[in-house]
Amino acid sequence: MIHPMTNEPTTSVESAESSEKSEKRSILEQSEHSLVRWFVDRDLPKYRAKQVLSAIYQRRIDSFSDMTELPKELRAKLDEQFCIFKSKTAESQQSEDGTEKLLLELPDGGRIECVLLRDGPRRSVCLSSQVGCAMGCVFCASGLDGVDRNLTRGEILEQALKLQRLLEPEERLSHIVMMGMGEPLANLRNVLDALDVARDSEYGLGISPRRITISTVGLPPAIDKLAEAHSPFQLAISLHAPNDELRTRLVPVNKNIGIEAIMAATERYFAVTSRRLTFEYVLLKDLNDTPQCAEQLVKLLRRRTAMLNVIPYNPVPGLPYETPSSETILEFRRILMEGGINVMFRQRKGNDIQAACGQLRRLREREPQIVTLSTHV
Ligand code: SAH
Repeated sequence: MIHPMTNEPTTSVESAESSEKSEKRSILEQSEHSLVRWFVDRDLPKYRAKQVLSAIYQRRIDSFSDMTELPKELRAKLDEQFCIFKSKTAESQQSEDGTEKLLLELPDGGRIECVLLRDGPRRSVCLSSQVGCAMGCVFCASGLDGVDRNLTRGEILEQALKLQRLLEPEERLSHIVMMGMGEPLANLRNVLDALDVARDSEYGLGISPRRITISTVGLPPAIDKLAEAHSPFQLAISLHAPNDELRTRLVPVNKNIGIEAIMAATERYFAVTSRRLTFEYVLLKDLNDTPQCAEQLVKLLRRRTAMLNVIPYNPVPGLPYETPSSETILEFRRILMEGGINVMFRQRKGNDIQAACGQLRRLREREPQIVTLSTHV
């Protein structure tokens, strides 16, 4: 930080202390490394850092005063300097199929959504990475008002922890999908920091990277960075169209990227991680659900170690897109299966609670509006 009057750098100690006075920092923003340093700087035993973190992430303890394994003075000191959660739960909804959705309000007023899905023994959470989204996919509720900001690592983890606290004591989170609001690869650093804690089994959530999926619109330089991070997460590409002309209409950022560059990046990712790729395809009536689209998809995906996830559209109030009829879906499926594509037709979950990306937040902001679309859609 530069001092405004002298142009001299101010010391980081000063700035840290003044922010501590004004408001408590969330302990979820601390890496294990930085918390160890906090203990060492105060001549406290460093093993305490892991104790505190595992109390929060593994034993689901919500206040420092309940960490009875810590000396009383230490609990008071932690409580003086840190808080655990920063957000308020503005709304929570439960679907008949067991899906639960939270609308969280952050201290600056930003609102984000996260979802807990119960599926057999699986307990999956779907997390947001940004407030809003800049990608502008025409059928999606999250990006209709653009992006406000990236979420911090603590804000990403806070969603998982609030959902984890909805589980029975004997249940544990098994999967994470970064498929909530926002584009995770546009906030890669914070997403990776949060996922480091999610996968850590010593003090964190202990979820294996093979059970963590990062879903992206397909940003090749960030896919390469993700590969370099050597964290073998599952990668899902939101493809939604088999050719650039249609994809650019549905996913406007495609204009400057193109399907070929995305395919090349996914192949590089596969070469490094050996993780089978997933392509997501939201079926939109009369747009990308035609037999020609299915045939083009077969050509595009044949001979790739990939899985195609076909998802029926979850209609967004105010947007003109519709879910195809079941006959159209069956025909689409037949062409893909006959073409030898490894395809999964996903069931919608949490329909009755606006569980698709960004829908609940939008519903709570204002009455649904009719949005004018560009003429060629
Ligand atoms: N930005 C990332 C992750 C967030 S969206 C991405 O694009 O992958 C997660 C998935 O939900 C994407 O495949 C997205 O296209 C899809 N999606 C968005 N709105 C939807 C809706 N109303 N119905 C069905 N799927 C939707």
